[in-house]
Amino acid sequence: MQASTLQHNAHPPQTLEVREWSVWYGQAQALFEVNLTLKAGECAALLGRNGAGKSTLIHSILGLVPKRQGKLSLDSEDLMAKEPFELARMGLGWVPEDRRIFSQLTVMENLRVGFGNTPTKRAFSKVAKSNFEAQFENQLEHVLTLFPLLRVLLKRLGGHLSGGEQQMLSMARTLMSRPQWILMDEVSEGVAPQVLEGLKESVHNLSQMGVSILMAEQNIGFVQGLCTKAFVLERGRVVCAGEQAQLNDPHWIESQLKHLS
Ligand code: ATP
Repeated sequence: MQASTLQHNAHPPQTLEVREWSVWYGQAQALFEVNLTLKAGECAALLGRNGAGKSTLIHSILGLVPKRQGKLSLDSEDLMAKEPFELARMGLGWVPEDRRIFSQLTVMENLRVGFGNTPTKRAFSKVAKSNFEAQFENQLEHVLTLFPLLRVLLKRLGGHLSGGEQQMLSMARTLMSRPQWILMDEVSEGVAPQVLEGLKESVHNLSQMGVSILMAEQNIGFVQGLCTKAFVLERGRVVCAGEQAQLNDPHWIESQLKHLS
């Protein structure tokens, strides 16, 4: 797959910045002045045990948690006032922890939902409809190249897929909207070990194509060899950040294990 097929414009943004980021659920503070930078093309891990704040960070970046303070920007563009759908249009994709597959829809239908609404109104000309269809087919082909297993499952209901297949569908559906930045929440969770390698390869290929990835994970083996840097969260704070060499260093990993339990 060509990197250019996933790009929205000729000058995609270069840096996603989270600065002095604090988040609350009601009176309870869940994140404390978190700083994080993700450059275009980077694949970063967000590590931490249960309740550390990984999902909260992802949800709050996407505007899904109302009480937030700090700075959030894509290059110089302030994202704080953007609605979740506007962020999606700007190229921010999300693979949620609970996958959110439409169980009564087929794999193909799930992928169509990810691509967007088919122009069915009369206002759309035949040409517009056929252009839309061609773009859909094109993107579908690219996504199926990344997740070849889904090709033979296109007619199967989402609810009849295994956990690993659902995870792939969840990622593939997100990719149908051609995001430049993807926030992934524990994609390896509940996936059978024999399927994990394939999933890891798909994420690796995606990263190689230039898509920027921030992945919340507890499975350190999954991010090793995949991510180029890591942030470790503990009780809502980034307690350390490591580069790829540290991620692949067993001593660094060992010292982080106390954070990951
Ligand atoms: P896990 O891997 O278990 O999902 P996590 O690192 O993603 O953990 P979060 O889910 O972000 O952690 O939770 C961070 C803190 O915020 C926890 O103390 C959690 O109880 C709290 N929290 C999360 N969601 C809510 C919510 N909707 N309302 C109130 N508190 C919440």
